[in-house]
Amino acid sequence: GEGLPRPAQTRVMVVANQKGGVGKTTTTVNLAASLALHGGRVLVIDLDPQGNASTALGIDHHAEVPSIYDVLVESKPLSDVVQPVADVEGLFCAPATIDLAGAEIELVSLVARESRLQRAIEGYEQPLDYVLIDCPPSLGLLTVNALVAGAEVVIPIQCEYYALEGLGQLLKNVDLVRAHLNPRLHVSTILLTMYDGRTRLASQVAEEVRTHFGKEVLRTSIPRSVRISEAPSYGQTVLTYDPGSSGALSYLEAAREMALRGLPEGLNVHYDPQHG
Ligand code: ADP
Ligand code: MG
Repeated sequence: GEGLPRPAQTRVMVVANQKGGVGKTTTTVNLAASLALHGGRVLVIDLDPQGNASTALGIDHHAEVPSIYDVLVESKPLSDVVQPVADVEGLFCAPATIDLAGAEIELVSLVARESRLQRAIEGYEQPLDYVLIDCPPSLGLLTVNALVAGAEVVIPIQCEYYALEGLGQLLKNVDLVRAHLNPRLHVSTILLTMYDGRTRLASQVAEEVRTHFGKEVLRTSIPRSVRISEAPSYGQTVLTYDPGSSGALSYLEAAREMALRGLPEGLNVHYDPQHG
């Protein structure tokens, strides 16, 4: 890896958007791999019962595998379920199994039902620079657990016609969780995904998102790329599947922006983004 400056404290990032198919999972696994390749120690927590992030990282997640369900519902330590990701040093995954589909209901009757993930992460003793949580496409208790555990919300936005629809609901939930459960929570990052620069629509949506959000929007957007969509079927991120592709390079660049933005004011002045 190139070695970017590492954060002083673990940055816990929640990748959320209750719309399905906008690139949450793709963004989670590829940003995580990029941050690891830049020299960080990174844990992906798969919080979607579909287990797509686990699949994309080549992590076994059949029904018998110890998983994030056991952590949330059975209070198992996170370290019992974390697996290393092959081929990417410093990258780890807490997989999701299909059990997790029931957790949304089972959590309701448990004590501290909103903060079980936060407690699990706090109890994790291995050093970590980043935790990235891949949320399901809903705003239920699983997503609330993620929002309580994290400080930063990362919202992938697909550059298509209804891009901003439904975001109001997510932002309202972020406000509610901040007001009642987690005062540190804020939207730190908006990432434009599946950007097709040849279409007028994509650039219009990008402009609308930049006007609406401003500085949270990363300069780098992720292009629509066949290599990105092929990689999960090989249990790989695009960073190992096709390291030189435009998709891989754009995720590396997005990760670099995120790593540098997280530094304390002034520190990144000394960091040359061309040669770091
Ligand atoms: P979500 O997790 O929000 O449901 P996914 O990350 O699973 O969304 O992405 C939805 C679909 O779009 C997947 O088939 C994925 O491979 C594809 N996809 C995501 N990002 C890109 C991209 N930049 N280029 C091409 N296909 C993409
Ligand atoms: Mg997903």
